[in-house]
Amino acid sequence: MKKIGHFIGGKHVEGTSGREADVFNPATGEVQAKVALASAAELNAAIANAKAAQPAWAATNPQKRARVMMKFVDLLHRDMDKLAEALSSEHGKTMPDAKGDVIRGLEVAEFCIGAPHLLKGEFTEGAGPGIDIHSVRQPLGIAAGITPFNFPAMIPMWKFCPAIVCGNAFILKPSERDPSVPMMLAELMLEAGVPPGILNVVNGDKEAVDGILDHEDISAVGFVGSTAIAEYVYSRGCANGKRVQCFGGAKNHMIIMPDADLDQAVDALIGAGYGAAGERCMAISVAVPVGEDTANRLMEKLTPRVENLKIAPYTAGDDADFGPLVTKEAHTRVKGYVDAGIKEGAKLVVDGRDFSMQGYENGYFIGGCLFDNVTKDMSIYKEEIFGPVLSVVRAKGYEEALDLAMSHEYGNGVAMFTRDGDAARDFAARINIGMVGINVPIPVPLAYYTFGGWKRSGFGDLNQHGPDAFRFYTRTKTITSRWPSGIKDGAEFSIPTMG
Ligand code: NAD
Repeated sequence: MKKIGHFIGGKHVEGTSGREADVFNPATGEVQAKVALASAAELNAAIANAKAAQPAWAATNPQKRARVMMKFVDLLHRDMDKLAEALSSEHGKTMPDAKGDVIRGLEVAEFCIGAPHLLKGEFTEGAGPGIDIHSVRQPLGIAAGITPFNFPAMIPMWKFCPAIVCGNAFILKPSERDPSVPMMLAELMLEAGVPPGILNVVNGDKEAVDGILDHEDISAVGFVGSTAIAEYVYSRGCANGKRVQCFGGAKNHMIIMPDADLDQAVDALIGAGYGAAGERCMAISVAVPVGEDTANRLMEKLTPRVENLKIAPYTAGDDADFGPLVTKEAHTRVKGYVDAGIKEGAKLVVDGRDFSMQGYENGYFIGGCLFDNVTKDMSIYKEEIFGPVLSVVRAKGYEEALDLAMSHEYGNGVAMFTRDGDAARDFAARINIGMVGINVPIPVPLAYYTFGGWKRSGFGDLNQHGPDAFRFYTRTKTITSRWPSGIKDGAEFSIPTMG
């Protein structure tokens, strides 16, 4: 059985806590590896390595640090297939989706190549007589990232790339469900030239997370996962004086106006509602057609598409719409929500609960499910399902549709499909949600923009994505200088020469 330990001080080390977790192949239900779950002592060893390595890394000039990211990008391209294969085998997503996961992280590494520019300070000449003021951005020291299962390549890279290029050391605590890719990323960073100890991967569960939140040498923590854990991480980390930023769960709405291109909207719902089995924080899980006629036309086009979704393991080829859910627990939870939706009175138009595949009967597969006539009070509307289940909530008018999305507790992403520029502009201006798509179903901003939800989907310090990351992972020092007055000349004044 494959054993996955930790990556500390530039080396793979075995787990010593005696605790481990199963890593499944979601397509077959078989255990394919055992991952170590770190004790506080193992975490402390990683932090000690990080602490020893960080000052020299911070003193390495930003251009050299940026060149490591440049090399890292090349290595990600070189190993793309290997990374995607490892990712699909533990997560269950299709190979094209797995490559997308790596590419979206790679784009963050590319953005980090601009670190020398992004880390420049500010300068005021003549703030007083003979006085100038300037500011510099200095790394925090050691930062940590706690990441979820659903993007095991992209989300770790969101965190460690900017943290490291800013001159910090980093402790990554990835999801215990799919730990192989984060370990491979750490190997590639080492190969790219990052010194040992600058990127450490500590596998584990709550014990490792609590250790991170309580350790005095960790200055900043970025968390991505479910909202309940995000809130816990935020309060414990802040109580210990750390900079903490958290991304949580989501319930993303797509409003379809009467003038929308319905074929485009249906294509978007198939990709955004069912892609990656709905296990995306930017998945569309609620469709809101405006007006009865729009709703009826939408359902007519959408229903056969959901009935004909292709579901298969990643090994069956690249044309599947999605693969299995990540774990048996996820499978039970998603089925439970579909049962609850029926009990609560929603109309289940497409029922994927009994989907099964010959040869993969023990895999965590579920077919696409589509509910119509969902209302605000139902659990399938209020809660995040994180599966291939789309709820249609019919709205009478635009204001009702807008209010629906605005009053939901989550605020990660939202989309509107319309041909009306006024409606689109009004929607983008008024909506209280962090990432907005106009005729774009999954409005994930590119690496040079801020990614981040609002409300219970994203809270805390500055986002660690885009230019804000360079502020999150550094602190500013402001220096006020009075210069000696009087210009000297003659022998007392010497101009340094080049060479
Ligand atoms: P999760 O909350 O179960 O786990 C996230 C991390 O927290 C993992 O590293 C896990 O080991 C750790 N953890 C789990 N239980 C813990 C506990 N009791 N105490 C301390 N740490 C604990 O989330 P998940 O199931 O891995 O990921 C799916 C969730 O992540 C969904 O809610 C999804 O919406 C969210 N997500 C959000 C974003 C975003 O940008 N907003 C992006 C991706 C995923």
